[in-house]
Amino acid sequence: MKMEDGANKIMRQSEQLALFSSMQGGLTRAYLTLEHAQAHQQLGTWMQQAGLETWQDSVGNQWGRKVSANPTLATLIIGSHSDTVSNAGKYDGNLGVLLGIEALHALADVELPFHVDVVAFADEEGTRFNTTLIGSSSVAGCFQPDWLKVKDKQDVTMAEALESFGLQANLVGSDARNAQETLAYLEVHIEQGPVLEERDLAVGVVTGIAGAKRYQFTLKGMAGHAGTVPIDMRQDALCGAAEMILAIESYAIQHDVVTTVGKCDVLPGAVNVIPGEATFTLDIRSLKQHILESSTVELLAQLKKIAQRRNLTVQSEQLYQAQAVPCDPKLQKLWAEVVATETGTPAFYLASGAGHDAMVMTQITDIGMLFVRCEKGISHHPREQVLQDDVGVALDCLIGMINKMASEYTK
Ligand SMILES: [Zn+2]
Repeated sequence: MKMEDGANKIMRQSEQLALFSSMQGGLTRAYLTLEHAQAHQQLGTWMQQAGLETWQDSVGNQWGRKVSANPTLATLIIGSHSDTVSNAGKYDGNLGVLLGIEALHALADVELPFHVDVVAFADEEGTRFNTTLIGSSSVAGCFQPDWLKVKDKQDVTMAEALESFGLQANLVGSDARNAQETLAYLEVHIEQGPVLEERDLAVGVVTGIAGAKRYQFTLKGMAGHAGTVPIDMRQDALCGAAEMILAIESYAIQHDVVTTVGKCDVLPGAVNVIPGEATFTLDIRSLKQHILESSTVELLAQLKKIAQRRNLTVQSEQLYQAQAVPCDPKLQKLWAEVVATETGTPAFYLASGAGHDAMVMTQITDIGMLFVRCEKGISHHPREQVLQDDVGVALDCLIGMINKMASEYTK
């Protein structure tokens, strides 16, 4: 019954936390804003009520520590982010923070061989500044000093925003953690996809975070009269793009990648003119970095061939890339054992297509993630929803995981 109470409390706290918002009737909470300060003050209070020692770090993350009287191991960090996208749901990030606090509350009387830190990362989404994962980057020692010059929409630099928040821009990252003092990083997060719901499962063990590359392609052919140029004499850029987009889809079906063409523009864009130019984007992801690399090379070669056959030119520009990050095999196994114990069914494994703070924390330590089912996979949207029973399962799993690590890592 005790755990049921915990889930209930987390659901209530999620509602309360969502009130710290810059928008009326919805939730938007960006980095270094009044709402950030208010939400972290509230989290700090809840951390103290859970018996934790609290502090704010150099970049504005909120921490709480369950102190071990006799730590024989490095510190375990549990965390997620407390910032949101614009018009967000209540559970993305925030649920993981609340679960961490409540798990440590439940373990208040248990003596562990390590300190356990729960952290609310102040920026993961990058809603205010044009850069993401600021909070965890500072902790993992990879905060880029250049970011201090980045401006928000009001022309306020990150350095200025840090100072008006009461922090010192020149000290950001000075309290970064290192590998020696960190045992592991655990993160519980909503799935943000439909797989767990489809399988009727409350939670799933994350195998890793997919790597991603993004490209923009520009195809050039020849514009012309829609009535006078014979069909076999055309250099129709849009027809070329269409063939390429379908080739990308069938490539993804046959290989271990997911691909999305989310944007396509046509020039000149008139009903009676043959498209002379077409641009489209490609987002390609895979859990395995080597597959992402080889697939990208193969796909780009295929697109080039299509262009040649159609007498078009194609130019590609890489817009973004992030490395694939595997979750630690030992932590996956421990999560799986805990999930099997708590749910009575074998653990289900799944990859994360979305980026998370764990991706950055892997720079200093092993990462282990657990996903919680969310309704219809809807996320980054006010309709984001989780079941209280699932939150209860996730809480039991996290408590079980901390206990298990205490015994497994002292062996
Ligand atoms: Zn998130």
